[in-house]
Amino acid sequence: MIICDTHCDVLYMRAFQPENEPVVTFENMQAGGISLQTCTLFSGVGEVVKRPYEVGMKEYREFRRLVEEENWVQADSPLQAEEGKVKAMLSMEGGEILEGSPDRVEEFFRYGVRMIALTWNRENEIGTPAKLSPKGGIKKTGWDILRVMAELHMAADTSHLNEAGFWDLIDRHPQPPMASHSCVRTLCDHFRNLRDEQIRAMIDRGGWIGINFYPAFLSESGQADANRIAEHIDYICQMGGEKHVGFGSDFDGIEVTPVDVRTPAEVPNILAALRKRGYSEKALADIAGLNFIEYYKRLGWN
Ligand SMILES: [Zn+2]
Repeated sequence: MIICDTHCDVLYMRAFQPENEPVVTFENMQAGGISLQTCTLFSGVGEVVKRPYEVGMKEYREFRRLVEEENWVQADSPLQAEEGKVKAMLSMEGGEILEGSPDRVEEFFRYGVRMIALTWNRENEIGTPAKLSPKGGIKKTGWDILRVMAELHMAADTSHLNEAGFWDLIDRHPQPPMASHSCVRTLCDHFRNLRDEQIRAMIDRGGWIGINFYPAFLSESGQADANRIAEHIDYICQMGGEKHVGFGSDFDGIEVTPVDVRTPAEVPNILAALRKRGYSEKALADIAGLNFIEYYKRLGWN
C-alpha cells in the first residue's frame, strides 16, 4: 500500500531546533511504510521571521544535505510514490517566504516545492490567517502568486488560511485547492479546522484534505488516538469525501501526538482503526495515498 503524508516540519526542526529529536526519520518512515513524506519549508517563529526567504533557504539546504549525504530520495511529484520505497517531496508553509515575489514561486518550484500553504498564522502579502480574522480575502499580490502557481500545477494549500481566503480560492482559483493538515470543525471547534460547508466545497471542486494528527485539533479534550483520527476521516467519507481525504500528520511541528501515533512508524495504527470500522482494503488504499496522487493528476501532473 502506498502511504502519503502531506505535512511535517522536520526541516524546520533540523535547521532551527537542533535541541529537539525529530520523529520524521528515514527509519521511522520505512517502519511505517510511508511512501511519500511531504516536508515543508516553514517561515518560522521568533527572531527568524524577519527574514523569511533566508529561513526557507536554510531549511532547503538541510533537505539537500539529507538527499546528498544521507539516504533520502526526493520525489518530483506524488505520482512518483512507490510502495516499499521512502521518498520526500517539498512544500512551503507561510507564503511570506516568497516575500511577495511571483518570480520566487518559480525559484522554489525549481527546488521541488509542489504545494504552498498561502499563510501560516501571520498576515502576509498573500492573505490573512484563520488565527487572526475570518475576514479579508486573497490580496492582489496573492493572486499574482497564485497565477504562477496554477501555471506550474502547484497545489494551493488552505491550511491556516482564513475563511474569506478559502472561499476566494474556491470561487476564483482555476485549480482545486487542498488543505494539507486540517481537521473537521464539527468534531473539534478550532479555527484551524474546516467547517462542513468548506469540506463540501472541497469535495465538489475536486480538492483534498489531509487530517492533522495534533490532538488539540482532533478533540476538544486535547487527547486523541488513532481511532480519533479515523473518526475525522470517517466524517469526511460520510459526507461523500472518500476520494478526497488522507493524512497530514504535522509530525515535528506538534509537541504532543496521539497516544498510539507518536511517529511515522505508527501510522499503520490509523489504518487498523479504519479497518475496524469496516473500511475495505480498496478504501484504505485510497485514503492512505491514492487520493492524494489522484488530486495531483487533477492539478495536471502525469
Ligand atoms: Zn501548520
